[in-house]
Amino acid sequence: MRVSIIGAGMGGLTLAHALHRAGIDVTVHDRDLSAEATGGYRLALDGRACAVLRRHLTPQHYQALQASSVPSETTNRLTFTDHRLRPLSVTTWDPSEEALLIGRVPLRRLLVRGLEERIRFGATYTSHTVDADGRVTTCFADGSTDVADVLVGADGATSRLATALAGHPTSAPFGFGGLAARTPLDQRTRALLPPALHGGAVLALGPQGTGIFMTQHDPATRAALDPAACHDVPAITEAPALVWSLIVLDSLLPPEHARAMGGGDLLETALSALQDWPAHLRELVAAADPTSAGYYRFHAADPDAELTPWPAGPVTALGDAVHAMPPTAGRAAATAIRDADHLADELIAARDGNSTIALATLRFEKTMASYAPQAVRESLVPLRWIRHLSRPAVRGAARVGLPALSAVHRLRRSA
Ligand SMILES: Cc1cc2nc3c(=O)[nH]c(=O)nc-3n(C[C@H](O)[C@H](O)[C@H](O)COP(=O)(O)OP(=O)(O)OC[C@H]3O[C@@H](n4cnc5c(N)ncnc54)[C@H](O)[C@@H]3O)c2cc1C
Repeated sequence: MRVSIIGAGMGGLTLAHALHRAGIDVTVHDRDLSAEATGGYRLALDGRACAVLRRHLTPQHYQALQASSVPSETTNRLTFTDHRLRPLSVTTWDPSEEALLIGRVPLRRLLVRGLEERIRFGATYTSHTVDADGRVTTCFADGSTDVADVLVGADGATSRLATALAGHPTSAPFGFGGLAARTPLDQRTRALLPPALHGGAVLALGPQGTGIFMTQHDPATRAALDPAACHDVPAITEAPALVWSLIVLDSLLPPEHARAMGGGDLLETALSALQDWPAHLRELVAAADPTSAGYYRFHAADPDAELTPWPAGPVTALGDAVHAMPPTAGRAAATAIRDADHLADELIAARDGNSTIALATLRFEKTMASYAPQAVRESLVPLRWIRHLSRPAVRGAARVGLPALSAVHRLRRSA
């Protein structure tokens, strides 16, 4: 069996590791020119995604992921606050559940390791055809082609491959964008961190169509595992930073404007959106590294629609390509990795003669449909709150209601 994967993101690379380890001939094609030529800040992988990676990577390889990640017990809490950073509610996770909180670039670089011969960078998928013999021919922008028994679209939100399969886009813009950056943590900036950020992340909900997500990312001084313990596969630890993402309605920051802005302009825009917010938060935003600033438009699949509206066959898709979700619940990467695990199991069974390729993709798509829509729904909740709070009628009520909620929260905590 030969498998061709479009997209060397988290889902595509996990699938490639699983198939490669099982002895299946696999090639991953990505439009990026190298593993490093990518963006992103931090990804959260839950216990299930960790178990998948443990299963498909060598112990040394998995250790390198742990040593590049911050320990889960330092971020097993998410505090929702109002725009004055007064706590409204807190969600906590079981600290004993394994998790990886790791930079997207280090994770991608580490997942490429061991697959160097199997990845073709600089290869942009354009189209595919299913041939008379059931095999799939894939065409790339550089004129090259690739023939395989199975083609998998792991090409992320706005996937060209899943769009071709479904006959329409599998996700749509949700009306929000994220303006994100890293603020280096030193003595001065650490002193500015709101208390809720010690031991957890913060999602502050603003009254005018804005919110901000913040988390400390400091694997360099406190990794989940000592990087010195990694011999065969070195860890990749990033410098200590506050990772933040301003969440903003498209109507306040039109995507076409944001995409044309350089880092300095993006930070200026963030500061003006946060005009009524606390001074120490604005100082943290102003201290961000402009070269780290980026803008991402949030796409979401419709969680109530059929996820894979195409006949099961030798072409399928996984991850954001099928069920795009905004990063607001930290579920997208973990869900893509879970998909990859299920698809790998089904394809290995087909390779071993225990099913057919069509049955394998059908079973995979059914399994994915049992959990992915819920992850999309959860990811949309904070955006719906921010959208509600932007409405003038709700805004008035929120001015009274949010401080009251915060007071109730404080009382409950002290009780
Ligand atoms: C640049 C970038 C930065 C991100 N930063 C964050 C972040 O900080 N926090 C967060 O929670 N989520 C972030 N995400 C989203 C997160 O990575 C995904 O939601 C999650 O990992 C799901 O993974 P996936 O494998 O489905 O898709 P992705 O990880 O998005 O991977 C898709 C891959 O497909 C490739 N691709 C796309 N189109 C083509 C094509 N036509 N031909 C060939 N290759 C193609 C892309 O180059 C990419 O490598 C980011 C995504 C991207 C692309």
